[in-house]
Amino acid sequence: MEKKIQNKYSLDTLWHSTSHVMAQAVKRIFPGVKLGIGPSIKDGFYYDFEIDRAILSQDLSRIDKEMKKIIKENLPIEKEIVNKKEAEELFKERGEPYKLELLAGIEDEEVTLYRQGEFVDLCRGPHIKRTGEINFFRLLSLAGSYWRGEEKNPMLSRVYGISFFQEEELEKYLKRLEEVKKRDHRKLSKQLDLYSISEEVGSGLILWHPKGSKIRQIIEDFWKKEHEKRGYEYIYSPHIGKVGLWQKSGHWDFYRDMMFPPMKVNGDEYLVKPMSCPFHVQIYKRKIYSYRDLPLRWCELGTVYRYEKKGVLHGLLRVRGFTQDDAHIFCSPDQLGQEVENVLDLAIFMLSSFGFKKYDVDLSLRDPQDRAKYMGSDEIWQRAENVLTEALDRKKLKYKRIPGEAVFYGPKIDIKLIDALGRGWQGPTIQVDFNFPEKFDLNYIDKYGKKQRVVMIHRTVLGTMERFIGNLIEHYGGALPVWISPIQVKILTVTEKEEHFANGIYQQLVSEGIRARVDVRNEMLGYKVRETQLEKIPYMLIIGAKEVKEELVTLRKRNGENLKGIKLEDFISTVKDEVKTRNNKDGG
Ligand SMILES: [Zn+2]
Ligand SMILES: [Zn+2]
Repeated sequence: MEKKIQNKYSLDTLWHSTSHVMAQAVKRIFPGVKLGIGPSIKDGFYYDFEIDRAILSQDLSRIDKEMKKIIKENLPIEKEIVNKKEAEELFKERGEPYKLELLAGIEDEEVTLYRQGEFVDLCRGPHIKRTGEINFFRLLSLAGSYWRGEEKNPMLSRVYGISFFQEEELEKYLKRLEEVKKRDHRKLSKQLDLYSISEEVGSGLILWHPKGSKIRQIIEDFWKKEHEKRGYEYIYSPHIGKVGLWQKSGHWDFYRDMMFPPMKVNGDEYLVKPMSCPFHVQIYKRKIYSYRDLPLRWCELGTVYRYEKKGVLHGLLRVRGFTQDDAHIFCSPDQLGQEVENVLDLAIFMLSSFGFKKYDVDLSLRDPQDRAKYMGSDEIWQRAENVLTEALDRKKLKYKRIPGEAVFYGPKIDIKLIDALGRGWQGPTIQVDFNFPEKFDLNYIDKYGKKQRVVMIHRTVLGTMERFIGNLIEHYGGALPVWISPIQVKILTVTEKEEHFANGIYQQLVSEGIRARVDVRNEMLGYKVRETQLEKIPYMLIIGAKEVKEELVTLRKRNGENLKGIKLEDFISTVKDEVKTRNNKDGG
């Protein structure tokens, strides 16, 4: 019964009310503070404050304590409707310039205020009835944030928090947050020495270190091999091209904000490529195709550059330069269904090869109310939408239809991969395109000798190399499967006496194609083991006097398991087998 009463509010309402209580507490502790905004967000809430000195983590416990007091006071939270003039006077009197700025942006005659005790906020609500209804909350983190997100404005102090109706819910959330933090690919990549971003190079531009590059190379090699098996041909295209290409395709008008500005060379303007499509189209245009030549499947690991605001950049997941695992398929309309199905098969095969077995699938369709927004006739759209629907049905994939989410040039399928924490990440996309063939006049000759428009599919199966590797690291918590691990085995000696034997083993492993390192430093074994554990290397081979004498090795796995008296050739065949089968269970 009690549960029902508590849940009469949505979490959004609870979070928003908790943000008010937090703001009230901050005002009590720092009377000069000026209020920014304090909404509920996807997970919890925040409030922004202008304060003489930034709020520090040691302030959080004081704020927490004061909030508990306010909750205990069980103040009624009351809505007031006042005219704008009154509200202006109120916030002028209270010295709240940001609230006055917000008020100036409201056109209505009347505005709503919410009041609890001495605290009052300009707010649309809704809210809970009394502060005492907040039971379980936690202040989580701090950040600096520009007023209204603009760098020319003052920097405010932002405090994030979360609250729940039940204690177990809060505990569950905090535990998960801990897990998310532990798996943060930025932190793990530093520990594993995979990549860095240098301000001297530029924000959002990834410098792959040798070990990160190795991971990428393994994925790329696998990707190329699997594409070749399925009739794809690999092509290369340049990094820059004349701006006219993207003007013609329509991208210049639609997406100019996300392109790096053009550079002038001998009177021509060039763009750093935001996508490879126009280049592939140029290759298609070099000759006339017969229906017998189709389908053509051209793939490229194309590095493209897109301008993203600095504030949204995030490790490998949001960057300014990235490599798409791109391909364009040129086919006849009657081949479209089979081609889409083939791409779905390939996408699912690739994702499951890397250990992602769960997906969310979205089918983005035209907004039926607003057909003028899209290219191509009703008939063509209907056919393309049917083709995608039928392909998904034949594959027995569950999907959500999302009207209005299609690109202007055609419908698409988006597959989100679900990671070990149940989070969804943008993965493969399959887009049917009527625009490029039209704008660039792309044709083939059908079996009656008549010229026909070709159909084009844009698709990726991993998305981008950067994001996918970020996802892999978070999915596995950095402990990558043996077949993807940049270093698979480390040989550790107990004393200097085993150096020669250890080097011999190293040579043997390397000659078998196993990625090995050897550590013969004169350090304590325990120290070397700990270091290797931090590197999350799947296997350690420990070589002491006994191992040398018996010509065997002691195997220590990443999970702590120890196996003594192992024959080297047995170990080698185990590793090779794990690589061959792309075993994603943690053998190491
Ligand atoms: Zn509010
Ligand atoms: Zn494309």
